[in-house]
Amino acid sequence: MRRSNRAWLPRYCSPDDLLPRIPETRALFSRRPYLVQDFVGKTISFLNSDEARKMGLEYDERCAIPCKWRCADESLFGVDLAIYAYTRAYPFDKGRIGGYFNEASIGAAVHHGRINVDLGGSHVGYVPGPDGGSFGRVWRPAEREYSTDCGHLMAVISPFKQIYDDACDNILVCQPEGERVLVSIPNEFIQPTWSSHPIKLLVDPDTLTDGEVEYDHHRPHTHTLIGRSLFYAHPDFIAHLPEDELHRLTTTVRQRIGHSLTHRYFNIFDAEAELDEEGLPRQRLLLYMKFILSARHSPEGLKAAVINTSLEHNRLTDAVRAGPYIGYDFISFSGVFIDIYSKDARSYVNLFQPMGMTIKPRGKTRELEFTPEEIHEIFDRIPVAEPRMPLKAVLDYDRPESALESFTYEPGRFTRT
Ligand SMILES: [Zn+2]
Repeated sequence: MRRSNRAWLPRYCSPDDLLPRIPETRALFSRRPYLVQDFVGKTISFLNSDEARKMGLEYDERCAIPCKWRCADESLFGVDLAIYAYTRAYPFDKGRIGGYFNEASIGAAVHHGRINVDLGGSHVGYVPGPDGGSFGRVWRPAEREYSTDCGHLMAVISPFKQIYDDACDNILVCQPEGERVLVSIPNEFIQPTWSSHPIKLLVDPDTLTDGEVEYDHHRPHTHTLIGRSLFYAHPDFIAHLPEDELHRLTTTVRQRIGHSLTHRYFNIFDAEAELDEEGLPRQRLLLYMKFILSARHSPEGLKAAVINTSLEHNRLTDAVRAGPYIGYDFISFSGVFIDIYSKDARSYVNLFQPMGMTIKPRGKTRELEFTPEEIHEIFDRIPVAEPRMPLKAVLDYDRPESALESFTYEPGRFTRT
């Protein structure tokens, strides 16, 4: 008989409830990101193109102001400088630390220019290296060491990651001689009161297990270990294992489940998280935490940046549809900024992976939406505009080619081990 522990989950973690989808990192990064300065230069060309006019955008740069929403981190200042070099305008700040969109800024921004061109998103540090480099850290020249980037998002993830890693190391799988595959689970991952830690990871017995193993005096492996419960592995869990994992886990010696603990098999929540009146965590990233931690093809720092950008892009497009802003134009580019410290340029260099472009013409409530494929299709063929001020004078470098080339991440090359 299979028993559930889903009643212990907060409502928002219910695996039966539908969660809005987020673009897959793997699909987004099947295309190379742009240097921010190239993306800004191409944006200027696009806004002034016949193509944009045909889409219903009446762009007049005399009434437009560039806006940014990004984290406060100085590693992102290249975004502001690129905007400045191409427009000779200071970007209006619609962002907050952590890469959040500041809704209260819209009212002032539209009074400074009736066309708002928004460029924003979360950021993540990238350290070039073999096998596609690594995400979530960047070199801090003033401290002469690496530190987390985006520090805010990494701090949100960090306590959850500790518990997830602990579960990966301590949930054990084996197959005794002549027996089915068994899963030995520490009790704190079955029922929340077995741990005093506010962050609770509960395996989902409905998907990971196929009933408890009954005690049999003559079969020593069925004897209960203190602090652990023993289950049969669910046939679907075994069926979904990649070949090498199946091989690794079906031996007579107990093996750690490792990253085969994918999002299907567990839920994770902070028992002390602040909830809103709908019962949802105020930090919306928490809704997607198990996907961030266990994505097979995406490092957690990058995944968190992708999800946060999606959530904030939604808040932006939702806000500009509201009554007071009906008479204004918004052209909004959202994506992930990738920070690289370039020793050649002696500076941070920013790449940008676009995730969405929306055009909300004045008088309309709904916007035109463009997929990442469409943005790349348009931007790959559109030329970079002439900057209003020499890039070398503003950025202290023309084009940091080596930083762009040092970005070698491809989702297929990254696998959690
Ligand atoms: Zn940050």
